[in-house]
Amino acid sequence: MRLLPRWHKSDMILQGKTALVTGASRGIGKAIALRLAQGGANVAVVYAGNQEKAEQTCQEINATGVTAKAYCCNVADYDAVTGLVEQVIADFGGIDILVNNAGIVCDKLVLKMKPQDFDQVLDVNLKGAFHLIKQCYPHFMKKRSGRIINISSVVGLGGQAGQANYASAKAGLIGLTKSVAKELAGRGVTCNAIAPGYISTDMTGALDEKKREAITAQIPMKRPGAPEDVANAVAFLASDEASYITGEVLRVDGGLAM
Ligand code: NAP
Repeated sequence: MRLLPRWHKSDMILQGKTALVTGASRGIGKAIALRLAQGGANVAVVYAGNQEKAEQTCQEINATGVTAKAYCCNVADYDAVTGLVEQVIADFGGIDILVNNAGIVCDKLVLKMKPQDFDQVLDVNLKGAFHLIKQCYPHFMKKRSGRIINISSVVGLGGQAGQANYASAKAGLIGLTKSVAKELAGRGVTCNAIAPGYISTDMTGALDEKKREAITAQIPMKRPGAPEDVANAVAFLASDEASYITGEVLRVDGGLAM
């Protein structure tokens, strides 16, 4: 018998699983959705308003032979999230992997930051993840299995001038991750965070060229990350191979926050 290389064996490690990925219409979330599908998972593609891009993500996933469906849901709206999770469970028969990726920025110095600017970013980036976790929690407990992966940021580890709201939300996600990890560890459910550095997406594309060059110069690997770099880490944490890893914060940043 010929032994297959390890990556062959692990290629379809998520077969039969269902993943719910928020913010999967674009950028990092889209790469995560595609990567989980490549591992064999069916995917609920959650987006805020960009239906065309969400449907495009679904088409690309469906072409690989697994099932994807798009769901419009503002993660900041608790009632909407309640309906979303019920619907995804009804459509797919359950959820195995929850990826809280949806996020926004509203960058300003604290001097100019209005309380609404602070709330808006916290509501989507932090409370949104709480809403999803709360709704999936009893489902995962009952199944005695589940994977929760929260997309934080290196900014949540080290802070960033002009991003007090965003850094607070991303640091809060780490506290949320570790608390949920402790609550659910005995139930076979893991909860981890990923802290990406500077990744090329619409979010960072909005920065001016000078700023982008300045950030890239600080990265030991001297290049921005690709959404796929984050997606590969998510696929690992979602797999059975990561079953003894919980409460971890994994930097995917080319060494930026080392
Ligand atoms: P992006 O390109 O701006 O995409 C944001 C995604 O979030 C879109 O799919 C958007 O949906 C969705 N979204 C926004 N508000 C939402 C809401 N209220 N409810 C549901 N979905 C919502 O962002 P990205 O760069 O891929 O970032 C993805 C995640 O990684 C974010 O949490 C971000 O903070 C984090 N991150 C990014 C970087 C980076 O360098 N890019 C670094 C560290 C961490 P629509 O398309 O429908 O608007």
